[in-house]
Amino acid sequence: MPMTHTDNAAWNARDLAVLWHPCTQMHDHGDGVAANHAIPLLPIRSAQGAWLTDMDGKRHLDAVSSWWTCLFGHRDPRLVAALERQLHELDHVLLAGFGHAPAIELAEALLRVAPPGLAKVFYADNGSAAVEVALKMAFHFHRNQGDGRRTKFIALHGGYHGETLGALAMTDIPLYRKTYAPLLLEPLLAPSPDAYLGEAGQSPQDCARRVAEGLREVLERHGDEVCALIVEPLVQCAGGMRMHHPTYLTEARKLCDAHGVLLICDEIAVGFGRTGTLFACEQAGISPDLMLLSKGLTGGMLPLSAVLTTQRIYDAFYADYAASKAFLHSHSYTGNPLACAVAREVLRTFASEPIIERNRVTSATMARLAAPLAEHPHVAQVRQTGMILAIEMAADARTRTPWPAQERRGLRAYRHALARGVLLRPLGDVLYWMPPYCVDEDELHLLAQVSAEAIDAASA
Ligand SMILES: *Cc1c(COP(=O)(O)O)cnc(C)c1O
Repeated sequence: MPMTHTDNAAWNARDLAVLWHPCTQMHDHGDGVAANHAIPLLPIRSAQGAWLTDMDGKRHLDAVSSWWTCLFGHRDPRLVAALERQLHELDHVLLAGFGHAPAIELAEALLRVAPPGLAKVFYADNGSAAVEVALKMAFHFHRNQGDGRRTKFIALHGGYHGETLGALAMTDIPLYRKTYAPLLLEPLLAPSPDAYLGEAGQSPQDCARRVAEGLREVLERHGDEVCALIVEPLVQCAGGMRMHHPTYLTEARKLCDAHGVLLICDEIAVGFGRTGTLFACEQAGISPDLMLLSKGLTGGMLPLSAVLTTQRIYDAFYADYAASKAFLHSHSYTGNPLACAVAREVLRTFASEPIIERNRVTSATMARLAAPLAEHPHVAQVRQTGMILAIEMAADARTRTPWPAQERRGLRAYRHALARGVLLRPLGDVLYWMPPYCVDEDELHLLAQVSAEAIDAASA
């Protein structure tokens, strides 16, 4: 690495001395990597709107909303003010035996806008923890009803639900899961409804219907051993922004009901307007038994997650203490007032501003600006669901032949974009845009321009 004496370099040296970064081979940032392969480590000083500013004062467009958390833009004034107000009232209190306005008001607000039938809110502090809660709750629900045979879960091929052991077990991405496989629960895997995998000439809806048949087969064989099916509605995000038709969810709901299986909709990434509706499962006209929220829940400001569930599930736990039916799960920061106050302001923002309508205009602009990229000889598909747009790069676009994974083509795109002041962080060879909702037309033009260059850089 060139030893330039910039603030970035000085912070990076201190960083590498003490930090171990998430989802990172630290060697990629280390001294031993040839300069043309090293991945720059970016120390960020501040953020505003769609932009991050590094320690050298260079600005970077946050086209991935800081891992899909940032909704309205960084340091959104309404959210900052809500956090400041709450800081003067109550920092934290345990939620066992105690309550507080932010937790109560947020739960009320969530249930007002959630799909019908969801009646109770259980808090946790990150997405994976919400997945753990949902898995335990689903299993325990059946057990409390005297059905101890239901010990299995169904997950989808290509799905992602987090990194803790239970959540990772439900994840079907070998890169993250394979090493830990000996430690993990083994879900039954049902086929992915990903429309990209559909046969030639098949519409996304036909693909969804055919794939639902695969789910039916799993349920017909194992239905009475299964607690729950867990899905990412409409977009399997970490698996490569793989998109499916809402019909799949409608069918999955029917099949779960027919087999007494609970449906867990993991809306951790797709909730809060990402797919064009406040929640993705609205587009299928279904209500899950358990709905998981995190990431955008606080607009990207603080860690918080929520598991929304039905009165029926709640009631199965409600009994005399001696019946041993209680859900004795907790995290120290369950329902943290600061995080809840910010999340409550997120919901107030949705209620008082036409966010979803404005996003419709923004996503149409995204579609228009991305359309020319589809013509690139190394772009196999450009796909979009609301505010998520993905560009599938391939060695051969026509035959959809991927590049060998070890070539890390996506990384070349990342490096190029970063040099141009745009934070694009491809998933493998899938380049995607998932910008904060405040992104404007000029910023989207920059994003499209740099994406075109990044695809050239990746495929050179
Ligand atoms: C990010 C994500 C999770 C895990 O959330 P963390 O807060 O990172 O633990 C779970 N499910 C989905 C769909 C996600 O995108």
